[in-house]
Amino acid sequence: MKKGVTKKDDRKIKFDSVKGSKSLGESWEYAPAPESKDHVRLEKKYDLFIDGKFVSPSSGKYFDSINPATEGKLSEIAEANAKDVDKAVQAARNAYNGVWGKMAGKERAKYIYRIARIMQERARELAVIESMDGGKPIRESRDIDIPLAAARFFYYAGWADKIDYAVPGAKANSLGVAGQIIPWNFPLLMAAWKIAPALAAGNTVVLKPAETTSLTALKLAEIIREADLPPGVVNIITGAGATGAALVNHPDINKIAFTGSTDVGKIIQKAIAGTKKKYTLELGGKAANIIFEDAAIDQAVEGIINGIFFNQGHVCCAGSRLFVQESVAKTVIRKLKDRMETLIVGDPLDKNTDIGAINSKDQLEKIKKYIKIGVNEGGEMYQANCPIPSKGFFYRPTLFTNVSQSSRIVSEEIFGPVLAIQTFRTVEEVIEKANNIPYGLSGGVWTDKGSKIFKVTSQLRAGVIWANTYNKFDPTSPFGGYKESGVGREGGLHGLMPYLTIQN
Ligand code: ADP
Repeated sequence: MKKGVTKKDDRKIKFDSVKGSKSLGESWEYAPAPESKDHVRLEKKYDLFIDGKFVSPSSGKYFDSINPATEGKLSEIAEANAKDVDKAVQAARNAYNGVWGKMAGKERAKYIYRIARIMQERARELAVIESMDGGKPIRESRDIDIPLAAARFFYYAGWADKIDYAVPGAKANSLGVAGQIIPWNFPLLMAAWKIAPALAAGNTVVLKPAETTSLTALKLAEIIREADLPPGVVNIITGAGATGAALVNHPDINKIAFTGSTDVGKIIQKAIAGTKKKYTLELGGKAANIIFEDAAIDQAVEGIINGIFFNQGHVCCAGSRLFVQESVAKTVIRKLKDRMETLIVGDPLDKNTDIGAINSKDQLEKIKKYIKIGVNEGGEMYQANCPIPSKGFFYRPTLFTNVSQSSRIVSEEIFGPVLAIQTFRTVEEVIEKANNIPYGLSGGVWTDKGSKIFKVTSQLRAGVIWANTYNKFDPTSPFGGYKESGVGREGGLHGLMPYLTIQN
């Protein structure tokens, strides 16, 4: 680090104007501060976790798990076929009938608390693996993903002995076996979102992580074994779409919980139509972040940056559409560009890194494709000047102005660090524009006026809306979408209900 620059805030002073701004490398730089990975132990090969044991897949097939920041192989992961899925579902059914479905809630709670505590004990290891496998900055996996995953288990452990009080005057029963399929953007956190409420409600589980990020789910399997859960209560099977489809189509599944793309969500909905399977789907998003002229602009700019560049934009609730009130648009865009210049893109394990690696080559190609579309549609593109590593899958933070409601980069989910900016004049206009999209997962409002917050949030068709903040999660609050962003809620009491049947 060069003399005189000691902390991040100083960067703002240096880059108060985009004109003449330099890349980080030219003006000053941080000394590397990589998190150690010496304490991390990864097996060369991971098998399927079925009935409390790691077993080899009946296909004999394994696929590579790659570190997206280095393109190096981390491990080989078993590919489960329909036979393995059947074994896992049977194990879950036996555990449900034999033990878990009959166990008193207060006993179930002990196991769930134990999982939470072991996760906390192994937090550092889990954070490093999450960053190596998924590409997200260590600051995020360490401070957000892992603590929130443990918090989910703590929270739902508290529900396990209170299920009888979940719906006053009615009896709540567990469903049976839950099939759960999760994506690659928050691997361990999504596993916790799925497994914790299912177990608390008395169900058993077969979980399939995403094919590019299986490692922390497999570490969770180790934790589950360490916590001494009865065999078969949680089964973790790895593989790609075909494995997920086999789980969805298995006749002995009572509930499907899915987080992923809207396209796959629709396939799942069709596949289970006409069956008795319950389902919750948490799908794509294209959130509107709205800045009014009376907002605290610097705070809003920081929130917009966090909303879209957090986790490389690999967030279904990313604030990928920005609406700025016309009178402050010039200032906001200038400040956004200034701030973008200070972002550090690079090694996910470095504590200074703001933006890590794009999760996979395919995802990087998808982002590049959308950038071309944006430019061809007449959008004005601005990219930060920051250096990016020559190896690995990285992309610079990017914003587009001069786009309209009909631009594809405004209406389609990119799942990358790409922000599309439009302006508006009135509250009515921005509500109309923000809602004019097939998605409705989340949104943000920035204003000094509480009344405006209530007016706008009550009319935005989105499941989660933040006011004067963004991307805040809490196990007690429900999360989920309107329209093509999904069906059902996760988190809080709302997130427990899809794992129960209610008898009046
Ligand atoms: P993304 O675009 O975020 O990768 P996907 O919807 O493709 O999201 O993937 C989310 C999860 O769904 C992954 O675990 C993936 O393997 C799984 N999956 C993909 N296709 C199917 C399918 N047809 N049926 C069930 N699961 C699937």
